[in-house]
Amino acid sequence: MNKLYILLCWLPTALFAQTTYLLKPDRVFDGETSHEGWVVRVTGEKIEAVGAAAAVSASGAEVIDLKGTTLMPGLIEGHSHLLLHPYNETPWDDQVLKEARSLRVARATVHAEKTLLAGFTTVRDLGTEGADYDDVGIKQAINKGIIPGPRMVVVTRALIASGSYGPKGFSADIEVPQGAEEADGHDALIQAVRRQIGKGADAIKIYADYRWGLMAEARPTYTVDEIKLIVEVAKSSGRGVVAHASTAEGMRRAIIGGCETVEHGDAGTPEIFALMKQQGTALCPTLAAGDAVSQYRGWKKGQEPEPARIREKRVTFKQALDAGVTICAGGDVGVFSHGDNARELLMMVDYGMKPLDVLRSATSVNADVFHLTDRGRIKAGLLADLVAVDGDPIKTIANLRQVKAVIKGGIFYKR
Ligand SMILES: [Zn+2]
Repeated sequence: MNKLYILLCWLPTALFAQTTYLLKPDRVFDGETSHEGWVVRVTGEKIEAVGAAAAVSASGAEVIDLKGTTLMPGLIEGHSHLLLHPYNETPWDDQVLKEARSLRVARATVHAEKTLLAGFTTVRDLGTEGADYDDVGIKQAINKGIIPGPRMVVVTRALIASGSYGPKGFSADIEVPQGAEEADGHDALIQAVRRQIGKGADAIKIYADYRWGLMAEARPTYTVDEIKLIVEVAKSSGRGVVAHASTAEGMRRAIIGGCETVEHGDAGTPEIFALMKQQGTALCPTLAAGDAVSQYRGWKKGQEPEPARIREKRVTFKQALDAGVTICAGGDVGVFSHGDNARELLMMVDYGMKPLDVLRSATSVNADVFHLTDRGRIKAGLLADLVAVDGDPIKTIANLRQVKAVIKGGIFYKR
């Protein structure tokens, strides 16, 4: 996408934000179902009306023809790290320990633009991985119109049990800066949660398990009581808690402790998924991250059989679907390239989810789970965050990559 072109169509439109226009795609996916021949009327930053062409007034509106496209709510990325870039470019340890914060922020601004132009108008950014509170500043820069990017839900540093996270593998005699904030026990956890909220966290992220110590395998970290405490403190300020968990026991503690979403969930079991369903905990499966990491480790996708990790992930994802667990769409983008967010949605279909359900996950379901009541659907009164893609993604999910127009808050960023 040509930068000058974006500026040319972005800035003038911003000056006349109260303009009214009528979008005429082939069909509208409203966040729940698809409607042939519908149109959408936008005034200022909001959707004014949506419905059959005959039922929506075109009076006083500029008519914008989006023939050949499906218009959808702006997609919501459920799990991003704008401050990371793919590990085959630079290993995670080196990003945390060797890259200057200024370098990381500069990259993040480019990542933000790529994300938006891919049709993702909101991201839930799940941790700065050593870049402290830089997500808060990036979010502010986007909201002030200084740089183009998606709306952001941020968690700042994230919480880890002492000794459990990384970078690791160094001499026990030296203190190595960590990719998240260590805090344990009653007082320190309360203080850490409140400090992160005070500095701008919209939600709190914890690591409920991790590859810990000299063992290669993930093990649970926080106790159920610690997780309950984190949830209580976050909740009293109106914020939810999201848990990284890949082991069954880490997941169980996160669910029992009151976390709203479980990230990854690789080693979930039918019992654990039944518990998630019962407790109303959503799963953000991050299929694309495992796919990317396996390829970084040498797997030649398409030429070699799928490694055990991928085969197991297919099984557990299917178990979660069968249990009726609410599925968020979130790929852990940053592990793979920003702007390639659709990769997760394509993989959700490949791993057994219906395309219509995948589109719901990336729009209305993510909005509901993340408490974003002003977006995620095409409905009068909601924010005009919209994306038009070629053809019909319900028939051909790969069309999500053919983005023809991106609108955020009524403003065209791609046209
Ligand atoms: Zn992540």
